[in-house]
Amino acid sequence: MIKVVHTIKEVRETVKEWRKEGLSVGLVPTMGFLHEGHKSLIDKAVEQNDRVVVSVFVNPMQFGPTEDLDKYPRDLAADTRLCEAAGANLIFNPEPEEMYDEGFCSFVDMNGPTAELCGKSRPIHFRGVCTVVNKLFNIVQPDRAYFGQKDAQQLSVIRRMVKDLNIPIEIVPCPIIREADGLAKSSRNTYLNPQERQAALILSRAIKVGQQCVEAGERDAHKVVDAMKALIETEPMARIDYVEAVDLNSVQKIDKVQGEVLFAMAVYIGKTRLIDNFIVNIK
Ligand code: AMP
Repeated sequence: MIKVVHTIKEVRETVKEWRKEGLSVGLVPTMGFLHEGHKSLIDKAVEQNDRVVVSVFVNPMQFGPTEDLDKYPRDLAADTRLCEAAGANLIFNPEPEEMYDEGFCSFVDMNGPTAELCGKSRPIHFRGVCTVVNKLFNIVQPDRAYFGQKDAQQLSVIRRMVKDLNIPIEIVPCPIIREADGLAKSSRNTYLNPQERQAALILSRAIKVGQQCVEAGERDAHKVVDAMKALIETEPMARIDYVEAVDLNSVQKIDKVQGEVLFAMAVYIGKTRLIDNFIVNIK
């Protein structure tokens, strides 16, 4: 039977009992409203660890003042059912006050990999992500933590943070899970009306175009990006925030498609900002 707890103390007590028995622990950090994408992370964690903690926390610190913090979808009962069916053992669902008490004033910040892409459009976002992930790491102290390639920049940022700060946790990347028609699964897809849902297919179609360009031998990153942008611009409901090619690890812009390259995009469909990406590895 899965346990749902709301305090740091309860998490620590539960994990302490597991550790006494010599059990390994995996952590899956989420903002809830769980779908198949999250489930794939939980499945992997269940496969690789004796016990699995899923955190469900809409972290106010990673939302800008004009972003969707208040309307972000929440459904703890459904999340609990999904976690239980997947074989997770503990859900940590704290209130913001439990994570950030009155005097809270310490942050984990990063230069480098946070400068481009979402870091440009959402200036305080990664400071919030790094801080909360660090807190979750310290609260749960897992052996492994699971992150989706859907948020590819976030994954690179977390990897860098773990390396820089000598955090003894293995970061396990998980591939993007998509709807049958190609749209990357996201809790934010619930914001889309039927017309927007259809228009949102332009993101995964742009991914295909980009992949085909690279497969056809194009090594000029700008040309690949331009082909992707040109397609997105054919969709009247779409507004490009960014489409960029960066080095996967440093998240710095590149000109030539060589090594591990991340092609990432953020596109507004109506008022909803969606992200998607693909990675190539060219020797
Ligand atoms: P979120 O709840 O959106 O913060 O996501 C929590 C974790 O699930 C992050 O590591 C995401 O990258 C991952 N995730 C979300 N959607 C997907 C997806 N469609 N495929 C794979 N991983 C995902």
